[in-house]
Amino acid sequence: MKIKEAKKIIVSLSQPDKMPGFAYGIPAPECKTGSKLRLIPNSVCAGCYAMKGNYIRFPEIMKAQYKRLAALQDPRWVEAMAVVINSQAVSKHKVFRWHDAGDVQDLDHLNKIFEVCRLTPGMQHWMPTREAWIRDHLERCPKNLIIRLSMTMIDQAAAGSWPHTSTVTTKPGARTCPAPDQGGQCGSCRQCWSKEVTNISYGKH
Ligand code: SF4
Repeated sequence: MKIKEAKKIIVSLSQPDKMPGFAYGIPAPECKTGSKLRLIPNSVCAGCYAMKGNYIRFPEIMKAQYKRLAALQDPRWVEAMAVVINSQAVSKHKVFRWHDAGDVQDLDHLNKIFEVCRLTPGMQHWMPTREAWIRDHLERCPKNLIIRLSMTMIDQAAAGSWPHTSTVTTKPGARTCPAPDQGGQCGSCRQCWSKEVTNISYGKH
C-alpha cells in the first residue's frame, strides 16, 4: 500500500504538544468506561482534558477523531496504520502513543492495535487504558506494546494485578512524572513507554 492511500484511510495522526512523536486520537465522549467515570467526582475522568481546551475550542479536532473512529471499520485500517507508522516521518521518533484521546472500544479494536504493533516492530508503543477487561488479553500483547491500566480514582493505589499502571496523585512528593518540572514537556523522559517502570504517578492538574 502506498503512503498516500494509507494516510487517507487512517484520516490522520495526532501530535500531542507535550509528547515525543505521534499518537492516534479518537473521541473521548465514546470512551466506554471513561464516560461513566466522568460523572463520578474525584475520578480521574471527572476533569477529562480531552473534553476541554483545544479539543473543544477547535471543533475540527473532534471531527477528525470521529472520522478516525469510523476508519477503524475499514478492512485496510491495520495495514494502513502500519504503513504510516513505519514511514520515516513517524518511525524516526521510535515511540507511538495510543490514544491521546479516547480509549479501546472493544476486543476487535484491541486485536487490530495488537496487529499494528506487530507490523511495526521498530517502534515502542504505549497505551494507557481504563478498560479493565483488557487484563485477560495481556498474554497476547506484542512485546513492543506496553499497556498501562489507568487507575480510576485520584490518589488510588496501583492495581497489583496489572504489570503496568498509572496513577494520579495529589500527595506532595508522590509524583514520578517529571513533565511539570520541565515546562509541561516529556523532554528526554520515556518512562511511560518503559517496561522497567511498573507505575507512573502523574500529578493532578
Ligand atoms: S512520565 Fe515521562 S514520558 Fe510519561 S508523561 Fe511524564 S514526562 Fe512524559
